[in-house]
Amino acid sequence: MPLAADRVESRLTDLKPALTEAQARAEAARCLFCHDAPCIEACPTGIDIPMFIRQIHSRNQVGAARTILEANSLGHSCARVCPVEVLCVGKCVYNDKGEPPIMIGRLQRYATDRVIHGGIQLFEAGEPTGRAVACVGGGPASIACAHELVRRGHRAVVFEKADWPGGLNTDGVAPYKMQADESLAEVEWLSEIGIEWRLSTEVGRDVDWADLEREFDAVFLGVGLGADAPLGIPGEELEGVWGATALIEAIKTGRRVDPASVYSAVVIGGGNTAIDAARELKLLGVPEVRMVYRRGPDGMPGYAHEREHAIAEGVSFTWRAVPVAFEGQGRVKAARLATVDRGLAPVGEPFSVPADLVAVAAGQNRLEDLLASIPGLEHDDGRVTVDPATGRTTNPRYWAGGDLANGGAEVVDAAAEGKRAARAIHEWLAGNGGAR
Ligand SMILES: Cc1cc2nc3c(=O)[nH]c(=O)nc-3n(C[C@H](O)[C@H](O)[C@H](O)COP(=O)(O)OP(=O)(O)OC[C@H]3O[C@@H](n4cnc5c(N)ncnc54)[C@H](O)[C@@H]3O)c2cc1C
Ligand code: SF4
Repeated sequence: MPLAADRVESRLTDLKPALTEAQARAEAARCLFCHDAPCIEACPTGIDIPMFIRQIHSRNQVGAARTILEANSLGHSCARVCPVEVLCVGKCVYNDKGEPPIMIGRLQRYATDRVIHGGIQLFEAGEPTGRAVACVGGGPASIACAHELVRRGHRAVVFEKADWPGGLNTDGVAPYKMQADESLAEVEWLSEIGIEWRLSTEVGRDVDWADLEREFDAVFLGVGLGADAPLGIPGEELEGVWGATALIEAIKTGRRVDPASVYSAVVIGGGNTAIDAARELKLLGVPEVRMVYRRGPDGMPGYAHEREHAIAEGVSFTWRAVPVAFEGQGRVKAARLATVDRGLAPVGEPFSVPADLVAVAAGQNRLEDLLASIPGLEHDDGRVTVDPATGRTTNPRYWAGGDLANGGAEVVDAAAEGKRAARAIHEWLAGNGGAR
């Protein structure tokens, strides 16, 4: 793969390492195998959690992996990256008993590691139907869609503008949860059944929609969100001022950033991307990492459990402050901040804090121009309008899912929406939809 072997992320260790067989079986033995299990309800892909835990307990690791991956083809990465604290684990009945909830994510990882890294393929392509679907964007949504389509006998070709597959699973999620090569291993395993890839191919630039409509019966849109949104304040062009997702991509896929040369880092924003960037910099050894957010801790959109990890790791917080400029000559040296009141109006004199590196996590732009180039496609503020039952857009040959349709959620949501669209596309094709 084109990723550097000595990329920066490889200096970070896994914060939730793999369970041994003894640990996994002991944890599985604690599960109460609840009737109407609330953990299943909390999973957007509806994995039968008590069933796979029971399979682990009876030493059927491969069967457990099948239970997981039948429901969620991205179950290998979801085991590592899902915010289980607010999903399945958060709903485990043990929480109400005042006892530690079942480590569902780590048990899921125990099962899927066995097949993904053991070279055990569980799926195969369906009987060929002669129909073909283009999946645009190579992230979790398109991968889940393509996998389901190939299992049903359709040809699925994924177009990805980056040089690597996997979307944010490869170049965005925090390395202490999952490193890029783990995402690539998952993509490779899923693609073995016949998913085709056209990497380094940007739809709208290298090929256009009319080309896709000529070659394919249907199109699935899974292009996610756009680049980091800028703040539009003086000094944003200085070297060392990064968009947060661009910084994380540099950490995960290459060496263009050197945390060893940074003493003070300032991260602007209060969402999960901001917390991830701050934690990554801290864990990479940056001595001073400060998050700056315009509201107080209660107003922070990022998960509280992630914020607590950041505090424990030594990240500091400046609440109720906004940046008004970044200062330096050529390279950033400081961030100038203004304190704000509850109505976000500035209070008092701005002040400067040292910053050799700044990461701006003010959200991601929407791919408005790309969407506007597709005839008949309704979208609002960069979010494609879809039928919630099928993922079909207002252009009858196009379906959509993932961040592009839900406005930015989790990997597990993208996986669920990609699969939902594949099933709807399959039904449409089976009913002779798109026949020419
Ligand atoms: C920094 C960060 C950390 C995150 N951490 C987590 C986490 O820990 N756990 C979690 O569950 N979720 C996390 N998320 C959210 C999760 O990554 C997304 O919800 C998920 O990846 C969405 O999948 P997707 O397929 O819709 O889009 P993406 O993963 O964004 O994939 C879209 C792909 O489309 C490609 N593309 C775009 N335009 C074109 C074009 N014109 N032609 C061809 N290809 C194109 C892009 O290059 C990209 O590879 C995180 C998000 C960010 C930004
Ligand atoms: S809620 Fe907890 S104890 Fe009950 S089935 Fe799910 S994981 Fe097992």
